[in-house]
Amino acid sequence: MKYDALIIGSGVGGYSAAIMLARNGLKVGIIEKHLVGGECVNYGCVPSKVFYHISSSLRIVRDYGGNANIEWRNIVEKARDIVDSMRNGLLYLFDNYGIELINGFARIESPRMVKVNGKHLEAKNIIIASGTDPKPLPGHGFDGERIINNRHLYYLEKTPDRVLVIGGGVIGVETANILADLGIETSIIEAAEHILPFMDKDIAATIRSYLKSKGVVVRENCPVEEITVNNGVRFKCRCCKGGEAYDKVFVAIGRKPNTHGMGLENIGVKLDSKGFIIVGKGYRTSIPGIYAVGDVTGGVLLAHKAIIEGILAAKNILGGSERSLDPLIIPKTYFTGLEVASVGYTENDLKKKGIKYVKKRIPLTMLAAVRIKTGKKGFIKILHKPENVDEVLGIHIVAPHASEIIGEYLPLILGKMSFREYAELPVPHLTVSESIREVAEYILGEPIHYFLRK
Ligand SMILES: Cc1cc2nc3c(=O)[nH]c(=O)nc-3n(C[C@H](O)[C@H](O)[C@H](O)COP(=O)(O)OP(=O)(O)OC[C@H]3O[C@@H](n4cnc5c(N)ncnc54)[C@H](O)[C@@H]3O)c2cc1C
Repeated sequence: MKYDALIIGSGVGGYSAAIMLARNGLKVGIIEKHLVGGECVNYGCVPSKVFYHISSSLRIVRDYGGNANIEWRNIVEKARDIVDSMRNGLLYLFDNYGIELINGFARIESPRMVKVNGKHLEAKNIIIASGTDPKPLPGHGFDGERIINNRHLYYLEKTPDRVLVIGGGVIGVETANILADLGIETSIIEAAEHILPFMDKDIAATIRSYLKSKGVVVRENCPVEEITVNNGVRFKCRCCKGGEAYDKVFVAIGRKPNTHGMGLENIGVKLDSKGFIIVGKGYRTSIPGIYAVGDVTGGVLLAHKAIIEGILAAKNILGGSERSLDPLIIPKTYFTGLEVASVGYTENDLKKKGIKYVKKRIPLTMLAAVRIKTGKKGFIKILHKPENVDEVLGIHIVAPHASEIIGEYLPLILGKMSFREYAELPVPHLTVSESIREVAEYILGEPIHYFLRK
C-alpha cells in the first residue's frame, strides 16, 4: 500500500496534520500504538481540565462561605465520559475524511518505508508526531500505586489522602492546585530556585503565596534526595528532615521524547542531546521527506504548539513551502485558579540577551471580574522597547481566566494592533478580557479606572 503521507502518532499534532492533508485529497494513514488522541485527549489537557473545572467550582463555593463536596469517582467518571467522547469524535473525523487508522508501533525502516505489525507501508512523506512520556524519578519507576504520573492520577479509583507533588513546573503546579481545591493535603517540592522556573520570580511568588493560602506546602530550591516506598512514601530532601509519609507521590519532573525504537538513528534523523527531534525550516528533519511536529520536537510542550505545527507541516507538504511558527508567539498557560498566561520574553530572557526594556506592572484588581473571581489578586506585566510602547517584548498575565484571554493579546505582540487601537475597543463588560482596554488606557496615560498622579 502506498500513501501520500503516513503520520506516526495520533495526538493533537498528528491528527491535525492528518486531517489537513486528507481534506486536501491526499491518501493518509495515521499510526497509533496506544489511544487515539494521545496525551492531551486521554491523560493531559482534557481530563486535567475536567478536574480543574470541578475543583475550582468547589473552591469558589468555599470562598463564598458555602460547603460543597463531590465524590472522587464522580469526577473520574465525568473525565472518562468526556475523554471517550473526544476520542470518538476523532474516530468519526478519521472515518469521514478517509484517514486510515493503523493500530501498532511504527518503526521507520527507510526514508519512505514504515514497518507496523510486521507489514511494510510505503509513503511519499512521513510526519513524526510521537510526543513524550512522563520522566520517572531516577531509581524509581512508576508503579501506578504509590508513585504515579498524570496517566494514573485522573483514573485513580479512590481519593488520595495526602499527595507529594515532585516538580513545580506547569504540570506539578496545576496538579497541586487541583488537589488542594479538592481538599486533599498537598505538598509541592521543586529543585530549582522557585516554582514555575521558566517564569519570572514575581509571577512565581504570586502563585506560591496563592497555593500557600490554600494550604499547599511549597518547598523550593529543594531537590529530593531519597525516596522510600514502604506502606506509604517517605522522602528526604535538602531542606527538610523527611519523615512525612504520603500515600501518593505525583511525579512531574519533565517529559522524555518518544523516539526510542523507531529506527530514527539508523536512517539518520538527527536528535538533540535529550533525544528530541531536531527540525529545520517547515518542520523538516535532517532527512528529506520526513517531518516532525509537536512535543517530540521539544521547546514549549503545549497542545496549541503541536496543533499549529501539525497544520503547518501539512501545508508545507501540500504547497512545497517551509512555513514555521515563531516560538516566541506561543502563549504559555498555567491553569492554576489564579491563572498565569504569558507570551514573548520574560524579564529574565531579556536580561540574559542584553535587550533593553521598560516594564509596566499594572494591577488588575480594579476589574470587577477579577474581584469576583479571585478577590484582590491579579496583575499584568507588559515589557516593551524603551523607544516605542507598541513594540511589545513580553506580556505576562496573572488573573483568573488568564489562559482564556492571552490569545486576545497576540495581535499586540505581533505588532498588528497598537495600544491606541486597543484603548478604543468595546471589549465586553464584565469580563477579565476587559483588562486589554484598561491596560492600553494605562499605558497611554489616560486610564478611566485609575487615578494617575501627574
Ligand atoms: C497533565 C497534563 C496536562 C496538560 N494540559 C495541557 C493544556 O491544558 N493545554 C495545553 O496546551 N497542553 C497541555 N498539556 C500538554 C499536551 O498534552 C501536549 O503538548 C500534547 O499532547 C502534545 O501533542 P503531540 O501530538 O505532540 O503528542 P502526544 O499527545 O504525546 O501524542 C503522541 C502519540 O504518538 C503515539 N506514539 C508514540 N510513538 C509511537 C510509535 N512509534 N508508533 C505509533 N504511535 C506512537 C503515542 O501513543 C501518542 O498517542 C498537558 C500535558 C499534561 C501531561
